[in-house]
Amino acid sequence: MGDLIFPDEARRSILAAVAELETEEVALAAGLGRVLAETVQSPLDVPPFDSSAMDGFAVVAGAENELEVRGESRAGHPSSKAVRPGFAVRISTGAPIPDGADAVVAVERTESDANTVTVPPSEPGTNVRRRGEDIMAGDLVMSPGEALRPAALGVLASLGRSAALCSKLPAVAILATGDELIEPGGDLGPGQIWSSNPPALAGQVTQAGGAVQRICRVPDDPAATRSALEGAAASADVVVVSGGVSVGPHDHVKGALAAMGADEVYWGVALRPGKPTWFGTLTVGERSVAVFGLPGNPVSAMVCFQLFVRPALRALQGANPDGARTTAVLDEDIARNPRRDEAVRCRLISADDGLHAAPTGPQGSHVLTSMLAADALALVEMGDGAAKRGERIPVELLS
Ligand code: AMP
Ligand code: MG
Repeated sequence: MGDLIFPDEARRSILAAVAELETEEVALAAGLGRVLAETVQSPLDVPPFDSSAMDGFAVVAGAENELEVRGESRAGHPSSKAVRPGFAVRISTGAPIPDGADAVVAVERTESDANTVTVPPSEPGTNVRRRGEDIMAGDLVMSPGEALRPAALGVLASLGRSAALCSKLPAVAILATGDELIEPGGDLGPGQIWSSNPPALAGQVTQAGGAVQRICRVPDDPAATRSALEGAAASADVVVVSGGVSVGPHDHVKGALAAMGADEVYWGVALRPGKPTWFGTLTVGERSVAVFGLPGNPVSAMVCFQLFVRPALRALQGANPDGARTTAVLDEDIARNPRRDEAVRCRLISADDGLHAAPTGPQGSHVLTSMLAADALALVEMGDGAAKRGERIPVELLS
């Protein structure tokens, strides 16, 4: 491993190497979390007509009066009768305001029998929802890169849309290398451990909007490593390898990638945990496949996913690649690492003076429960001394 690259620079070089995927029409029912790839302009006013905000009586605004009731405007069933002074139309919430009326008097404020209603004074516009009050025809409503959250799905439907143009989902292959790994459900032999990286990484892929295409365990063998990488790159947009990317005699990922002609962008990040991280691209036909070699240690793999793979998956979807960052007050001293930035797993606590970050106990890169309890990564820059209790430091929220 030569010079280590700093995490921000690593992230920049990843973003420079990935391009947005093609687009596809996505039905709203399947659209949650997808990233919009079109500009949405409204073809109509929303609401599309003046309507009542209350159950009551549509009237011509004016003084207190006894009015003759003439018909009804119900939601979905407009009244054909116009309203003139001296008359009222019974109306329900969401029903069109009849011609001639300019106010609605709430039913609770009236007294009525079958044919007449006594109404208090009213002003024009009272309890009337104006056409276009929410959105006007031609308004810019959404832009490419916005994630479809529930409200976005609702707004699209309010424009009459049943589908939206979205970026394709990045297809991700996860390869877990290691002779010691056993899938949960089998039996553990001597020296073997359960493989925990695939489900954790698959969860992160899904949260980042990617689609897990395959998950394979790969033995520590050069030929098997190469064939697994070739199989994964044949159809995935992103290949995430865990383990086998360091310098040991049984680490074959770098060698296999080199033999396949991969373009290495970096190997080695000045980050703790996460130093032996590899990133590069493989060209498969016309396609460029992004390949991440993450350290096998479960915490390192998850931290590197958050800081490096997630931005790539977001960029492939045309979305903002940045994780949500804010600052928090440290609740304990954290000794700075002299040569590497450190991502400290923290719980976030809301206090009177804002957010506090409390490290989640032992921070070894194999202590996966430090992630279990974490809401965020506190980003502690390399240096001498310590980041002090009470100091405000940047944190990246774990989604
Ligand atoms: P490596 O990066 O291959 O040297 O692995 C570093 C450490 O992570 C070793 O202790 C491995 O046993 C462990 N490790 C690698 N892959 C996994 C995995 N899928 N699940 C749990 N631990 C793993
Ligand atoms: Mg290994």
